[in-house]
Amino acid sequence: MDNGDTQEPRERGQAPETGITPGGSNGAFRDVLARDHARRGKPPLHFADMTKDLRIDKAKELGLPRFRISQLAHHYYGHFDVDSDDFTDIPSELRHGIRQVFFPELITEVTRQVADEGTTIKTLWRLFDGSRIESVLMRYETRTTLCISSQVGCGMGCPFCATGQLGLTRNMSAGEIVEQVRVAAAAMQAGQVAGGPGRLSNVVFMGMGEPMGNYGSVLRSIRQISALPPDGFGISARNITVSTVGVVPGIRKLATEGIPVRLAVSLHAPSDELRDELVPMNRRFNTTQVLDAAHDYYRASKRRVSIEYALMRGINDQAEHAALLARRLNHYGDNWAHVNPIPLNPIEGSRWTASDPRDEQRFLDILHQAGITATLRDTRGQDIDGACGQLAAKQQ
Ligand code: SF4
Repeated sequence: MDNGDTQEPRERGQAPETGITPGGSNGAFRDVLARDHARRGKPPLHFADMTKDLRIDKAKELGLPRFRISQLAHHYYGHFDVDSDDFTDIPSELRHGIRQVFFPELITEVTRQVADEGTTIKTLWRLFDGSRIESVLMRYETRTTLCISSQVGCGMGCPFCATGQLGLTRNMSAGEIVEQVRVAAAAMQAGQVAGGPGRLSNVVFMGMGEPMGNYGSVLRSIRQISALPPDGFGISARNITVSTVGVVPGIRKLATEGIPVRLAVSLHAPSDELRDELVPMNRRFNTTQVLDAAHDYYRASKRRVSIEYALMRGINDQAEHAALLARRLNHYGDNWAHVNPIPLNPIEGSRWTASDPRDEQRFLDILHQAGITATLRDTRGQDIDGACGQLAAKQQ
């Protein structure tokens, strides 16, 4: 839904300047995507986008025998390295052209914001067509998590969300998604993040976009993030989280892939009446359909599902909301879901604001009393425009 306090969807005539597709807030992401995709063209093909056969063909064009491809894969997935000048296991006369053909630069840093004493780094990236996306690296004591984007903007139009106000520009390629991970893993390895050298251990698809709206590229990325080198970065699928606003066919398809990633469902409301207002996608797939699919995912994957719930003052944060949420989750049995109430990081000038801390606590207490595990989600980087899309929204 749209409301008087949020930014209106951009007019069609204004689109070329920013590349933002108009109509992105009506939830009809597929139609919007198809129209804009044709106009913008595709990102350069990258090693991470190529099938095995295509890699062989490209290698032939460069005069590289096929066994060199696995060397390239070791450099890329095993060492996070794309600078072919440094590939000393490949004769120098053959290194020429490798970078351009296999590893074109897909994401270029525009700006970064650092918080939490250097352990949170939010980066704004420019893509080949000038689009902007962002990723956030968060280092904790026992793990380091990267939050990545899978689409430029988002067509789901949740009125309280900065990314939702941008509309959807386009889907990202698998290469563009995987590159966010590769660059962060390289930074960790090189000790560029406060705390010294370390390892990127977790990836969450919770940046810009609805991952299920770009299913093919997201799945190809997950496979490359989770496979062991030289097929991928070797980050366990169990440490990868895919979030969705409730695109039921996507949840059901993911359950059949046999990859034990964690599913996170952005529920934000316990009833259809309220969720219709907060999450336009609810009019296509209602709360019962979404929770049914989420529970089926739990049964198929044996992974507890995360229920994301952005607490908004006076809107969805009252005792009755917590009680109804608990009832609806307990309807499916015990211990299958974990609720993450998230204090909303409000968009400037919007009527959707963060809950009173006392209401947050009461919300948590009611869930706990009903036997539901719930933890208030850490809002890292609040002082650096932590809500998804806010940095990119400012830079458009
Ligand atoms: S909350 Fe998520 S699904 Fe909704 S508009 Fe924002 S990014 Fe898209």
